[in-house]
Amino acid sequence: MINPGGERAWLDELRAREQTQTTTLTPLIVHCEHCGQPLSVANHGHRTVTTLAGMWKLTLVIRQCIQPDCPGFHQIHRPEEEGR
Ligand SMILES: [Zn+2]
Repeated sequence: MINPGGERAWLDELRAREQTQTTTLTPLIVHCEHCGQPLSVANHGHRTVTTLAGMWKLTLVIRQCIQPDCPGFHQIHRPEEEGR
């Protein structure tokens, strides 16, 4: 049995999927500028950006220093590209 609207909906979904691209932004800094220890991944953020070329799903990696005696302890580093 053929659903008259079914095929059309499937094509629309396929087209939308083609136009959606994903990328991961990570901070350029990987070592703490205060203590030199490797930064840990504190969190992941998500953002969807729509451009003329289609939709981008961005995963933002957020880093922080986890050395308790470091002046930069829990200082958040976000991807530098964000917001441009
Ligand atoms: Zn540190």
